[in-house]
Amino acid sequence: MAPVLLASDLHLAPERPAVVARFRRFLAAEARTASALYLLGDLFEYWIGDDDAADPFHASVLADLGDLAARGVAVGFLPGNRDFLLGGAVAARAGMQVLTEPARLVLAGVPTLLMHGDALCTDDRSYQRYRAVVRSRIVQRLFLALPRPARRALAHGLRRTSDAHTQRKRQAIMDVNLAAVEATFRSHGYPRLIHGHTHRPARHEHLVDGRRCERWVLPDWYESGGFLRCDERGCSAVGLD
Ligand code: MN
Repeated sequence: MAPVLLASDLHLAPERPAVVARFRRFLAAEARTASALYLLGDLFEYWIGDDDAADPFHASVLADLGDLAARGVAVGFLPGNRDFLLGGAVAARAGMQVLTEPARLVLAGVPTLLMHGDALCTDDRSYQRYRAVVRSRIVQRLFLALPRPARRALAHGLRRTSDAHTQRKRQAIMDVNLAAVEATFRSHGYPRLIHGHTHRPARHEHLVDGRRCERWVLPDWYESGGFLRCDERGCSAVGLD
């Protein structure tokens, strides 16, 4: 069986040509060998509304993903905290299916949950408050009603504030909360969870009610990239230069 590949936190932006080149190499090589590719959020550094699809950089990335889908690779997109405004219509034009979190699927025989990961970082209370606000329908509607330059300026401003906060926060509170992870395993009864967001790639084992569960954390693509490759023998992390 052709493998299923999963990646997240690429943070594609025109200012990061090396990352974009890495992604294009990945789409032209490893991704073509897959039966499916799941992108678990923060594919784009910013997505300020679906009129952003007209931006030449975004349009070229979406076209490349569309080419992959046209080759028969199923492409699933689960939005992250940077690109949750990317809607189903834009995704569909790029051949991608938008997934809602937690996405549940049977991956080579193993029931698996897919998340971006930010919802699990419950120790970071100020972030969770911010998340609840920006994900609310009314705030999204107000934001999308603004002209594009204003939305871009707001997004950049929020980013700078968030970076400043991130530098002051303790490392521990920006990781996932163990109780939130266990509650996720418990409520779905699935033995495998795959997520990104924390940029702390690893495989963790959790014993939940006596049941062994595994949690894979995907790497970001800033300095080097990587993805998870899953088939009937299990999952393994693959690095990219
Ligand atoms: Mn993220």
